[in-house]
Amino acid sequence: MIFNMFVKAYAKINLVLDVLGTRPDRYHELVTIMQTLDLHDVVEIDEAKEIELIVEGADLPAGPDNLAFRAADLLRRRTGFAGGANIKLVKRIPLAAGLAGGSADAAAVLHGLNNLWGLGMAASELEALGAAIGSDVPFCLRGGTALVQGRGEKVSPLPGLTSLGVLLAKPFFGLSTAQVYRLYDDIVEPLHPDSHGMLRAVCSGDVSGVVARLGNVLEQVILPMHPEIREIKEILAAIGASGVLMSGSGPTVFGLFDNKAVALQAAEEIKIGNFRVWVTEFNKPEAD
Ligand code: ATP
Repeated sequence: MIFNMFVKAYAKINLVLDVLGTRPDRYHELVTIMQTLDLHDVVEIDEAKEIELIVEGADLPAGPDNLAFRAADLLRRRTGFAGGANIKLVKRIPLAAGLAGGSADAAAVLHGLNNLWGLGMAASELEALGAAIGSDVPFCLRGGTALVQGRGEKVSPLPGLTSLGVLLAKPFFGLSTAQVYRLYDDIVEPLHPDSHGMLRAVCSGDVSGVVARLGNVLEQVILPMHPEIREIKEILAAIGASGVLMSGSGPTVFGLFDNKAVALQAAEEIKIGNFRVWVTEFNKPEAD
């Protein structure tokens, strides 16, 4: 089978993540700054009569339970497009990791099919469609560095930071985002990270200010339940990460380094542990 379009689906981390409250629709009101990484899945797309998905590199369903399939199906139904597509998804982003792998795939499919099918949908229309698939999809459609608010549908691009090296360490279990937020609701007085300070630091390109303000309110749910995540944070700090934090709803922890080469060197110091490691760096959105 020949695939004629390749789209990269980039993972993200959250430099800061705070929950402001619960909305009437029971979603959580978030304020977060997201940053895309160079780590990505690859989505290969070719025109076909029906929508068909093949998944390589992960044990994931290839039907409507897959966010990549759901994105294609929703786009076709909303636009009334008569054709389909063969989609091959090559997974590299770890699953249920707090890195928005599924949302990235959905965004890549929306972007790719909008072009392949010649739909001419505006970025704002794709984002609205993406929000119906998953909270992180609107951000994944844009990439780069952005302030994300609401349940994820309000995305404000921010100036890109210098490309830092990133070491990702994920324990051998995944976490359900929905369950993590349910557990968050039981915390009586959560400590909130300095999201305003982080926004100022990002806008002024102040890397040490960013590192000093890394914060994720959800660590207060996860760290007491999974002490190994605290241990991973300590290991990344000990091998020289300037800042360490759990990404999103976890369990992946990221460590920041001056650049990718330094992160690669640091990774060599890690002894085999109860986690897997990836080395990557901040990514900037590609020009269309
Ligand atoms: P987020 O940070 O957006 O909460 P996550 O990184 O924690 O996401 P994902 O890997 O995106 O989690 O996906 C969580 C679950 O969604 C998976 O365990 C899987 O069951 C389901 N899923 C559906 N489609 C995909 C896909 N294309 N890639 C990954 N997971 C998918």
